[in-house]
Amino acid sequence: MQSKKIIVLAISLTLSFGGLVSVAYANHSWGDYHWARTTNPFMLKIGNNVSSAWVPYLNEAISDWSVSPILDLTKVTGSTSPRNCKPKAGQIEVCSERYGKTGWLGIAQIWVSGSHITKAITKVNDTYFKTSTYNKPAWRRLVMCQELAHDFGLNHQDEVFGNTNLGSCMDYTSDPDGTLANPDQLTNEHANTHDFDQIETIYTHLDSTNTFASLVTSARGSLNAVNSQLRSRLEDLDQDIDLDNPAEWGGAVRRDARGRNTLHVRDLGRGEKVFTFVTWVQ
Ligand SMILES: [Zn+2]
Repeated sequence: MQSKKIIVLAISLTLSFGGLVSVAYANHSWGDYHWARTTNPFMLKIGNNVSSAWVPYLNEAISDWSVSPILDLTKVTGSTSPRNCKPKAGQIEVCSERYGKTGWLGIAQIWVSGSHITKAITKVNDTYFKTSTYNKPAWRRLVMCQELAHDFGLNHQDEVFGNTNLGSCMDYTSDPDGTLANPDQLTNEHANTHDFDQIETIYTHLDSTNTFASLVTSARGSLNAVNSQLRSRLEDLDQDIDLDNPAEWGGAVRRDARGRNTLHVRDLGRGEKVFTFVTWVQ
């Protein structure tokens, strides 16, 4: 209970210093959010809305995570403009753009209904990736690998930047390829065994429905897809939330070792929430 009190206090301080309206969000711990599926492995579509500079890194992240016996990730043509990066029901959309000096290198957002992910996006911010500090293969690999994994429900393994690399892109680091340490340390550019074990834990059970959109849609499948598209349009219409704006991300539920908020949750009502994972600049 003690730690919960501390977190709630920290959130309200952040909100008042930030000049935001203080809303009482419940303190949710991270849960086993996952795409609902009736079989394993399942095929998840990854919409490509990235610039040519990012394509090799998107491809690499897709093949890294597809090593999991649970996941079969398939790149498809994106369905949104990178600037807007709108989610599409049943799949992940990945976008790159100069989003401005937002403070973040990358964000991942997942929409959940109950414990099931229904749509997800990843954005990487070229405002920073065009600079000499971040325009490096190791930084691009780390961020793309990590943000993509949030979209199927993985959280960070470690949130301290300065400690020894765990050899996973789900580990925060200031030394992505491990060459700043002496001697060199493990690289955090790819997934490791612990990440794959975690995916198996989250995805062991099967569900009675699918929340992902299959590539070959049956009549029933396409009806479900149309339904969820309609639902998501209605939500967009009646909520008008600008999720590019950190003030709209909802309360913080996790912070990194530097005290920066790394995971937010916003309750959309009707049992739906949106989670936002943030990778801040150094
Ligand atoms: Zn389930």
